[in-house]
Amino acid sequence: MLTQIRSTRPVPPDSGPPLVDRQARQVRYLRLSLTDRCNYRCTYCMPSEGIEHRPRAEMLTHEELVAICRAFAAWGVERVRLTGGEPTVRRGLVELVRSLRAIEVRGGGRLEVVMTTNGERLAELAAPLAEAGLSGLTVSVDSFDPERFLRITRRGDLSKVLAGIDAAIQHGLAPKLNTVAIRGFNDDELPGIARYAWDRGLVPRFIEVMPMSGGALFIPGELLPAATIRAMMADAFGAEIAQDSGKAVRGLGPATYWRVDGGPYAGRSFGLIAAMTENFCASCNRLRLSATGQLHACLARDESGDLRAALRHGGAGALEAAVRRLLSEKQDGHRFALDGSGGPTKAMISIGG
Ligand code: SAM
Ligand code: SF4
Repeated sequence: MLTQIRSTRPVPPDSGPPLVDRQARQVRYLRLSLTDRCNYRCTYCMPSEGIEHRPRAEMLTHEELVAICRAFAAWGVERVRLTGGEPTVRRGLVELVRSLRAIEVRGGGRLEVVMTTNGERLAELAAPLAEAGLSGLTVSVDSFDPERFLRITRRGDLSKVLAGIDAAIQHGLAPKLNTVAIRGFNDDELPGIARYAWDRGLVPRFIEVMPMSGGALFIPGELLPAATIRAMMADAFGAEIAQDSGKAVRGLGPATYWRVDGGPYAGRSFGLIAAMTENFCASCNRLRLSATGQLHACLARDESGDLRAALRHGGAGALEAAVRRLLSEKQDGHRFALDGSGGPTKAMISIGG
């Protein structure tokens, strides 16, 4: 376990103007993939075999992650989301959260650290993560039927995830629940998943499946459009579904929020992440860093900047130049198409959603 943080090449804490992309959006949110490995093999995210992991020497170290986040915080990033692969399989996760949480952000305050996880290891990790300063959590769970859950994850244990969600609630980390909505797999479960979440004071969110990996894992008939999900929810709860604009989380997320307007669940809301049918590119103000240090301005495109090389061989100036160059080249929107074409060759497992 790492107990002491050596600085790599120090990055000045106030180096340059805030990060603004070509579309004049200020970047406040960085997603940080901690590993390209996972203890699950979700069918829409990873192939069952033939997975090539990058060598460990290519992974950003704890010290490099801290140095990079310190620079981003100085440029105006307020929140980092830890993702993967599966972030909880990374060694030293709790210490990393503690180190990131200690970073000062431009204009005062500390960096907010949140995480997205499959929840398999959460029962044991919720307490130490909360103590280390993690302030928000999203747990991905695609079915509440143990057999289906095992089928989609190829190795997941639903009872562990449910115990993890309970532990997170107990330690003040009430998670959002992410469910990839898949026609013919879990469409009959979505209202039940929403009820499970609402009964525990959680927010459910449904995600349209996206064609990553050059479309290799995408089955067009499985896409459940956001409008269909709203219609299903209206039907299940016997009420109108209205947009809940008050729920937009500080403009940092891609989800839109929707409210049940009537019946026993009146006022409860759910999120939709609808990259395929309700493009949200115009409000995207995030960057993504892969576990090997490749910075991506867009989930759906392959262009990237090599921050690992910049940091290891150039230092602070090279790092800043690489980041600002990528931002100045950021394209206007994605090219995902409903037939599964137009997506990036990169895999979701490598960039973490
Ligand atoms: N392992 C963690 C987890 O599952 O929450 C973090 C990484 S995972 C790649 C992040 C999110 O991306 C999860 O909610 C997952 O369901 C979602 N995801 C993965 N592949 C996807 C795809 N092809 N389309 C839409 N969402 C996807
Ligand atoms: Fe692993 Fe998350 Fe991908 Fe599932 S979605 S295989 S849990 S990284």
